Amino acid sequence: MSTIAKNIAKVRARIREAAQASGRDFADIGLLAVSKTQPAEAIRDAFACGLVDFGENYLQEALAKQEVLGDLPLRWHFIGPIQSNKARAIAERFDWVHSVERLKIAERLSAQRPPHLPPLNVCLQVNVSGEASKSGCDAAELPALARAVAALPNLRLRGLMAIPEPSEDPAVQHAAFARLRALRDDLGLDLDTLSMGMSHDLEAAIAEGATWVRIGTALFGARDYGAPAPAH
Ligand SMILES: *Cc1c(COP(=O)(O)O)cnc(C)c1O
Repeated sequence: MSTIAKNIAKVRARIREAAQASGRDFADIGLLAVSKTQPAEAIRDAFACGLVDFGENYLQEALAKQEVLGDLPLRWHFIGPIQSNKARAIAERFDWVHSVERLKIAERLSAQRPPHLPPLNVCLQVNVSGEASKSGCDAAELPALARAVAALPNLRLRGLMAIPEPSEDPAVQHAAFARLRALRDDLGLDLDTLSMGMSHDLEAAIAEGATWVRIGTALFGARDYGAPAPAH
């Protein structure tokens, strides 16, 4: 078995165990393979092992891979920070955007979503770690933002996303993910998605209700930060 096949099997086993431990259905937890900095061939190999959802953080890098992988029926998720001049390409080339944190960006994504495509699935990224984190909207701003985004015609607001400050302490991990779930529930909108949990904390995220876990390192190995930074 190839390394990627083994890694996928290991990650699936972790998801299955975590689902079982919290009485959840394995089928309700999506595995989003985070392929940033990985070559297109790694995505092709992962697809051959059954993965179809891939998450990318940098637009130029993602577009280059989409070009090469155009023969595969992949679903592309944008999970990185969004500059407004990148909104058009993201609206045109992705199925999901997990990292919407401002209304202005959501409005652009909606306006620039091509009419022949279904509404773009979006999650609002929320800062659940307070001062320690700079990405995501503040919890206090969330209700107004969510209502405004839910009203945009070419977006489908699916739920919330968070990247908590990394912690090795399961209690801290659980608290952050539980907070995101409570924020989602308190909105009183019909939202089916919690995008939370990465390689080191997917168990805690699943226990707290994750419906997408975003996994990079545990699938593809450590990212090579020695490589030139991707253009974005
Ligand atoms: C890189 C990244 C991940 C994956 O992190 P790993 O620790 O490698 O699993 C998940 N979500 C976002 C937003 C990322 O940027």
